[in-house]
Amino acid sequence: MSDHAAGQLRDLVPGWLSQSLDPRVDSRLRELHTLVAEEIRQRRPVCLASGRCCSFADHGHDLMVTGLEAAWCWRTLASAPTTAAVVSGQTAGVCALLRDGLCSAGAARPVACRVYFCDRSAADWMNQLAEDCHQQIRRLHEEVSAEYRYARWIDLLRAFSTGAAITTGS
Ligand code: SF4
Repeated sequence: MSDHAAGQLRDLVPGWLSQSLDPRVDSRLRELHTLVAEEIRQRRPVCLASGRCCSFADHGHDLMVTGLEAAWCWRTLASAPTTAAVVSGQTAGVCALLRDGLCSAGAARPVACRVYFCDRSAADWMNQLAEDCHQQIRRLHEEVSAEYRYARWIDLLRAFSTGAAITTGS
């Protein structure tokens, strides 16, 4: 990502953090979490807990998230990663929230993380579910008048790690 594009994302962070406080954001995202959990429960894709889904560069995929959802995730994290960890993760193409092979984000992880499994037999329904959820989150952006951006999770983490610090003055 260019410095200019990174700066644009970072400048949107204060607005997204504020808009993510709208109760509609929390309730809609939680509805999607429930929907996805039910789908996973019924379809039972295989998860080997390999951490592959969070090591993007090694496994050739990108995890995409909208700015508003990323703001909700950032606010919901029990412990935000340090900027150094985020920069290192962005450089290596690994999520900064992956610790010892496990996700440390817990309930704060994005919908795309909940939907994605490296089980190839799950690809069709998984991609459709991910797209349906994405479209609902896109509409949520419109409902709360939040600027829409759909970006790589590792780039959004970088934007929030610096943009949120600017917002709080820390
Ligand atoms: S938030 Fe968790 S599940 Fe999602 S990419 Fe990061 S470590 Fe993986």
